[in-house]
Amino acid sequence: MKKIKYQIDELRKKILKYDYFYHTLDKPMISDSEYDYLLNQLYDLELKYKEFITPDSPTQKIGSNLLDKFKKVTHFFPMLSLENTFHLNGYLKFENRIKKNFTANYIIDFCCELKIDGIAVSLIYESGTLVRAATRGDGYLGENVTQNIKTIKSIPIKLKGSNIPKRLEVRGEVFMLKSEFFKLNNKGLSIKKKYFSNPRNAAAGSLRQIDSTITAKRKLMFFCHGFNFFEEIKFFQTHYEVLIQLKNWGIPINKDMLVCSDHLEILNFYKKFEKNRLLFDFDIDGIVIKVNSLYLQKKLGSNNKSPRWAIAFKYPSKEEITKLNDVKFEVGRTGVITPVAYFNPVYISGVLIKKASLHNKNEINRLNLYFNDYIIIQRSGDVIPKIVNVIKSKRLENAKKIFFPIYCPVCNSKLISNKGGKIIRCLSGLICDAQKKKIFCHFFSKNALNANGLGPKVINELIQKKIVLNLIDFFYLTENQLKNIENIGKKKSVKIIKTILQSKKTTMSRFIYALGIFSVGEVVAQKLSNYFNIFNNLMYASKQELELIDGIGKVVANNIFNYFSISENKKLVKKLTEILSIIPYSKNFFNAKIEHIFNKDIVITGIFKEYSRNELKEILIKLGARIGNKVSKKTKLLIFGEKVGRKFLEAEKLNIQMINEKELYTLLKSIN
Ligand SMILES: [Zn+2]
Repeated sequence: MKKIKYQIDELRKKILKYDYFYHTLDKPMISDSEYDYLLNQLYDLELKYKEFITPDSPTQKIGSNLLDKFKKVTHFFPMLSLENTFHLNGYLKFENRIKKNFTANYIIDFCCELKIDGIAVSLIYESGTLVRAATRGDGYLGENVTQNIKTIKSIPIKLKGSNIPKRLEVRGEVFMLKSEFFKLNNKGLSIKKKYFSNPRNAAAGSLRQIDSTITAKRKLMFFCHGFNFFEEIKFFQTHYEVLIQLKNWGIPINKDMLVCSDHLEILNFYKKFEKNRLLFDFDIDGIVIKVNSLYLQKKLGSNNKSPRWAIAFKYPSKEEITKLNDVKFEVGRTGVITPVAYFNPVYISGVLIKKASLHNKNEINRLNLYFNDYIIIQRSGDVIPKIVNVIKSKRLENAKKIFFPIYCPVCNSKLISNKGGKIIRCLSGLICDAQKKKIFCHFFSKNALNANGLGPKVINELIQKKIVLNLIDFFYLTENQLKNIENIGKKKSVKIIKTILQSKKTTMSRFIYALGIFSVGEVVAQKLSNYFNIFNNLMYASKQELELIDGIGKVVANNIFNYFSISENKKLVKKLTEILSIIPYSKNFFNAKIEHIFNKDIVITGIFKEYSRNELKEILIKLGARIGNKVSKKTKLLIFGEKVGRKFLEAEKLNIQMINEKELYTLLKSIN
């Protein structure tokens, strides 16, 4: 408990410090996503340990501390922040919650707008004249920035037209165009002045200038997205209508808004602008969805942090700039050398990223990397991080270029490249310690022989101490050999011996997979096991016969054939088949229902209650499915659990058949 309290206190301290730098000094120390990440951690901890919530916790506040140089003003209506989500599921929860509140008699529609990434302000008009402008501040007290706001050309000092209320609050976002931002930063850099990290910070800095003439030079923009009336206005029914009226009075409104009736239309709107947003000259970080009816908005009201009738559906942030520290050349199980870039950690979409694979030599050549380069990292949705590009202008003069090695970094043997030079391998096999370790680990891994407890650490230790020289040695290990090894001891050595003994009983497909033949994964292993039934038949199969098997191409057939034509491999496999008891594949398994799964491309997404994703994968592979990581046109079926993400949306878009956990179990029951 003490530890939790300490953790909470540390998080609060950090967040308060970042708040101060961000809101008060306009100098963010960390990226927004990192900030959200910390705040979310705090939220989660406080949710779990409610006894530690204090009124001064950052989770209990909305906005920022106030800069003393501007006079404080109290907002007539609190400027609350919006609830937000990054996923369709989060939005659906919102929609369901709204619909649950009202009987079917109400037609509920939603007004969708772009979420401009700027500074929220409140403008008060009296009899059509702008009398006060304030920033959000902490949501209740803002800063008076009237003089500076008046320099923004698109904000009218006087409204035009008729029926203008006596007093009116207009809310919206002050922002800077990207093109303006770049111009400003170029100037700032050349005279070594302040450098803004993004257009929003530039807008904030510009809006809070003591000298209004500086604000005027910065060319700020404004879009209205909200309003408050001080008296009851009967002639407007919807949010959308009021925005159109405000436009007619001269207030700038972004033209891209749409009234939608359900999540499908909303998702379309979301996706359309996710694609187009890079083309805009201003930053948008999502869309905002509001209950359109003013009457229903009023009925829903708000909690102490945000209105219940609106939600921001945000886009994942995609790119960050960071510094490259090193490129390590890692030797894979099959000897393939993979360069991996290590850089200063960055948060993208709430995930900490500190390394990215560079895949192969071609990628190294494309990027032309030097040590300490500034690089652009990208990560979209749940896709793996990638180095998009290098900022060459920031490269130091004496920087050292990164070359692909000629010799294996582990065993020092000369590396061999294939014809295109794309794949470079160390061919030393078990002689190369890196490969040896990975071959052994793979052999006993969860989806192979599944010797639970015989992990990479133990295996590494056994190799280092030269207790095991090959796979066979594992099956003759004794407690005496193990118990004196550091970090193992008596108790663990008993467990390891036991787990190895248990792993001896395995299926043919697991055994084939365990051998780690180049390009033979679980799916191919299952197919081979289905086809051959007796292991010896596989070992002596010709290339032609292998190619006959459905789903096995020339390359894979070649790799299998080559593996068994090496006499050492044949010897090893023969010995292993003598030691292990391998259960052959049983053909009785088949029936008609299996058609849904057998030989089909299936993708699994989300979190499941009954099984882990790996367990489900195993069950489906046993039934002959091909499990893919990506949704594509080839995908025949998507199985989804809870907390679904991008794959779900993609499958929806491609009209792919989808079943949930319950439906899957019904299907599986009908098969068994
Ligand atoms: Zn090597």
